Amino acid sequence: MKRRNTYAAIIGGGAAGLMCALRAAENSLGQKIIILEKADRVGKKLLVTGNGRCNLSHIGASAKSYHGEGSEDLINILFKKYSPDAVLEHFHRLGLMTTDDSEGRVYPRSNLATSVLDILRMRLSAYGVEEACGVDIREIRKVRSGYEVITEDEIITTEKLVVAVGGKADYAGRESGAQLIKDFGLATTKPTPSLSPVKVEGDSLRSLKGVRVSAQVSLIHGGEIIKAERGEVQFTENALSGICIFNLSRYANRHNGCEIAVALLPEMSVDEIEDELTRRLKLNRNGVLSDLFVGLFHKNIGIALIKAAGLKPSKNCKDISNKELKVLADVINNWRFKTIPRHDFKNAQVTAGGVNIREINHHTFETKRHKGLYIIGEALDVDGDCGGYNLQFAFASGMCAGDHL
Ligand SMILES: Cc1cc2nc3c(=O)[nH]c(=O)nc-3n(C[C@H](O)[C@H](O)[C@H](O)COP(=O)(O)OP(=O)(O)OC[C@H]3O[C@@H](n4cnc5c(N)ncnc54)[C@H](O)[C@@H]3O)c2cc1C
Repeated sequence: MKRRNTYAAIIGGGAAGLMCALRAAENSLGQKIIILEKADRVGKKLLVTGNGRCNLSHIGASAKSYHGEGSEDLINILFKKYSPDAVLEHFHRLGLMTTDDSEGRVYPRSNLATSVLDILRMRLSAYGVEEACGVDIREIRKVRSGYEVITEDEIITTEKLVVAVGGKADYAGRESGAQLIKDFGLATTKPTPSLSPVKVEGDSLRSLKGVRVSAQVSLIHGGEIIKAERGEVQFTENALSGICIFNLSRYANRHNGCEIAVALLPEMSVDEIEDELTRRLKLNRNGVLSDLFVGLFHKNIGIALIKAAGLKPSKNCKDISNKELKVLADVINNWRFKTIPRHDFKNAQVTAGGVNIREINHHTFETKRHKGLYIIGEALDVDGDCGGYNLQFAFASGMCAGDHL
């Protein structure tokens, strides 16, 4: 077995780990820093973020867009120094130019995720930080001088150890570093998928596969609206998808008995919708119901709404009663879908759950139980909404820990 010493070893070369290594390298006076990555390359996930554009931060991100027990306190403290502005300023200093859209989502000006990864790797290389990829960590031992990381062919002794292994949500389907964390005996919250499509009961969606609508969506549980969002809803064979749905998925994946209410004309009251339907029924008095929504909704959406109201698409418009009209008008802004919690991480962008925040010092990300051991990024029980919040947290926590190594 080969043996060597480093000042800091960072396990996981994702967004958080790379940023942490860079900050540590910027601060250290030439001390040896190594990134230990399981995959054959660092930053693979970064390349698929934001559909290949990498939505790296969100202007004005604050605690209200993050979840996880105690996340509010942690984010409030972290963003005082490592706000989106501070993260972006650091990237600008490294040479990355960014741009933001009307919603506040920040992207590299090149619109290429690879620009973010390349700039980090270039600067890491300039500081002499080593990237060791394809590494299989067998064991970690606490020793007097810090930690020993035992891989298949070497023992690395390090003063500081950073765990930046991410969560379970991983499109490449790799195993997470959950086992490594388990060995430290830290309290964790059960991981569940978040920012995923939400599965719904029944087969009513089959005819809507591929259809997109702009809508307001509300997650309802026990008669209460838990969260409401506006945006584009995408229908798949058995699920609702789209950014607004992703933002409801955290709760929907954790609780049975939820419903999603879709409002297709949220800017209109039920009375206004009734008036519009009455006008359309008159226009189509010699036609059938399935023609009623032509020019307003996708044809298959119209038919699905009619069925959801308990009516037949082949029914003649002139035979619609007042009561039926009211039911149809109601469905348009209160189209209900019973949700099914999902447990797989395949289509999830983020893991909710992870190492409990109370295990770490909020100002440094060092664990309270193990001196010199830091945990950052998605491995922690912090997950953000869709829109650059998760990378903002990964980079900010990486910067913070890197500054304190
Ligand atoms: C398809 C997709 C799109 C996304 N788009 C966005 C977006 O546009 N904006 C946004 O804010 N968020 C986005 N996210 C979420 C974001 O990518 C993550 O929250 C973020 O990457 C977390 O950073 P991290 O460094 O903590 O973990 P990761 O980026 O997951 O990095 C962890 C690294 O650790 C390595 N690793 C794991 N176990 C071990 C081990 N045992 N030994 C060594 N190495 C190990 C992994 O291989 C990986 O390289 C997206 C996620 C996905 C899946």
